[in-house]
Amino acid sequence: NLSNKVALITGSTSGIGLACAHTLAKAGANIVLNGFGDANEIERIRQNIENTYKVKSIYANYNLMKPTEIKQMIEHVNKTFGGVDILINNAGMQHVTPIEDMPEDMYEKIIALNLSSNFYTIKYCIPHMKKRNWGRIINIASVHGKVASVNKAPYVASKHGVIGLTKVVALENAQTGVTCNAICPGWVLTDLIKKQIEALSQKNNTTFEEGAKALLKEKQPSQQFVRPEQIGETALFLCSDSASEIRGEAICVDGGWVAI
Ligand code: NAD
Repeated sequence: NLSNKVALITGSTSGIGLACAHTLAKAGANIVLNGFGDANEIERIRQNIENTYKVKSIYANYNLMKPTEIKQMIEHVNKTFGGVDILINNAGMQHVTPIEDMPEDMYEKIIALNLSSNFYTIKYCIPHMKKRNWGRIINIASVHGKVASVNKAPYVASKHGVIGLTKVVALENAQTGVTCNAICPGWVLTDLIKKQIEALSQKNNTTFEEGAKALLKEKQPSQQFVRPEQIGETALFLCSDSASEIRGEAICVDGGWVAI
């Protein structure tokens, strides 16, 4: 039961982050939403969370590519709720192209969002967690934090970095009630992946469904997409007391991808 806990989930206006927000709210946590999107749609999501789960929810509209905005976001949450107890670093982006064609500013952006933002949110959230001697930091890495694929240099570098960061934070807090772990999803059918399927089906002149099958066949032995809720449930488990000695781990939820 997470009532009286405050969960900040970055990039929670869609996909995996939104699913995590629902799962933690259902368990009683107050929810800080973050991410981009249509203001009315985000307000609808926020109200829906409050009404469905009888928790408090706010929307923190900050760009995580900018460290100063991350600092402001944590200050905003501290002022409203007193501090972040559960931090899910989920916001992320992808760009698929060979390294020699990868735009330099794309590399910088992906590293800033997928990796550096995790450093800053953790840095600013941890004092409160240490004071309470309880905290959960969950970084949504990827199978690409453990293995590589072609044409994803910045993404794979950023996700490998996230796993390294996860281990350091886990060790630094190993004698406290603050744990830090990563979750490594395989293919989950979100906007991020839909773009890749569309590109693949365009290239091969197939339907979206055929593109999706082709994507799964290439990497995911189960031939099924992971459901966003399954990532949320894994995060919820990491928040539980049963998981208090899981530290510095990177848990794959990937249909067998990394087992090969
Ligand atoms: P998504 O595109 O649906 O969600 C990304 C979220 O990040 C959105 O809410 C978006 O508004 C937010 N965001 C983007 N730029 C931002 C910024 N500058 N500041 C704040 N928020 C920003 O994608 P998703 O698939 O749900 O991805 C979530 C995480 O899961 C990412 O870190 C991604 O790398 C990881 N992941 C996804 C998959 C997959 O198959 N979908 C697999 C492995 C890992």
